[in-house]
Amino acid sequence: MCALERTHVLEGHGAEAVLDALLAGRAESGACITCSFQAEDVVVLHLLRERVPDVPVLFLDTGYHFAETYEYRDRMTRVWSLNLVNVLPEKTIEQQESEFGILYREQPTKCCQLRKVEPLMRSLEPFDIWFTGLRREQSPTRKNLKKVEQHRLPSGKTLLKVSPLADWTWAQVWEYMGKHGLTYLPQYDRGYSSIGCEPCTAIPDDPANPRSGRWSGKKLECGIHTFSEKTE
Ligand code: SF4
Repeated sequence: MCALERTHVLEGHGAEAVLDALLAGRAESGACITCSFQAEDVVVLHLLRERVPDVPVLFLDTGYHFAETYEYRDRMTRVWSLNLVNVLPEKTIEQQESEFGILYREQPTKCCQLRKVEPLMRSLEPFDIWFTGLRREQSPTRKNLKKVEQHRLPSGKTLLKVSPLADWTWAQVWEYMGKHGLTYLPQYDRGYSSIGCEPCTAIPDDPANPRSGRWSGKKLECGIHTFSEKTE
């Protein structure tokens, strides 16, 4: 099946069927998952590790995450024996702030570029399949998301970007979490619905827009899901 056929055929399949179709018969999966340890990522990781127990779990360690996020990441890594890949930016926070000041206040796009996008671009190079926890419902910027997309990285390399939960609702995510007894980031209990770096994450004013608490509403995407070119 060519990439284009696969994109269309798998769109109607459930999350597990998408995973099985893409991973079946591959001794070396060539797969990774980007994981910020939000609920959607944990669901995809739960499904994925049943099939590829040592799947590389790419965590973009900006240095600005909540302490609870680091604690949860470390606990899940230990309990699930995850193959965690802690993806670091080239500069430490101290180096970046002494050179550019507090970028997340004045130039969040540059801060995200340095601390998330560029490190991720480099980290994705070895892989053929990139799993994500993206859902269409999360944001207007994600409403056209397909479960399987072919993307080209700035280097020219192409890979499949796979979002098995693309058509899931928020309620389905939590139903799955409850059904499987999965623990979650404690910030959800305080009213956060989308959780990233602490300085750029607030409780959303608009419950209908779960990402409205990110970047004080100045932007909706950090750039890690917009830097690559969708080719199919
Ligand atoms: S989310 Fe905020 S702190 Fe994190 S990398 Fe982007 S601008 Fe910087």
